Amino acid sequence: MSISVTEVKEYLLKSKIKPSFPRLKIFEYLASNPTHPTVDDIHKTLVEEIPTLSKTTVYNTLDLFIRSQIVRPITIDGNELRYDVDVTTHGHFKCQDCGVIYEFDMDPALPRSLDGFRILDKNIYFNGVCPSCLAKDASASS
Ligand SMILES: [Zn+2]
Ligand SMILES: [Zn+2]
Repeated sequence: MSISVTEVKEYLLKSKIKPSFPRLKIFEYLASNPTHPTVDDIHKTLVEEIPTLSKTTVYNTLDLFIRSQIVRPITIDGNELRYDVDVTTHGHFKCQDCGVIYEFDMDPALPRSLDGFRILDKNIYFNGVCPSCLAKDASASS
């Protein structure tokens, strides 16, 4: 997803978020880096452009985005919180070898056994080894 600053501004306004400069930059980063970055990833990159940007600002901004439901927090490794601009229902697969997080489509329908439950969040995580790492393993061992 590539998105212009003007589009980010409109999107934030539509979500009733005042588009301050750090907010614009943080959302633009998330939209153009759909790799499920952590707060550290986002801060490390943006602080080069905005030297006054604190990690707290990044946290607070992400928190605001989550409350406005334009960003979804995901935990894949248990303790590491990552952020996703794709708020549709989809699953994540993390490769244990290269650490890349892949996304896959998921049936948004709920299992019948959850009838009557109020669902606040739907997360599916798979762990394993991706095809390119498997291919590397195969060529290394032959
Ligand atoms: Zn995702
Ligand atoms: Zn891999």
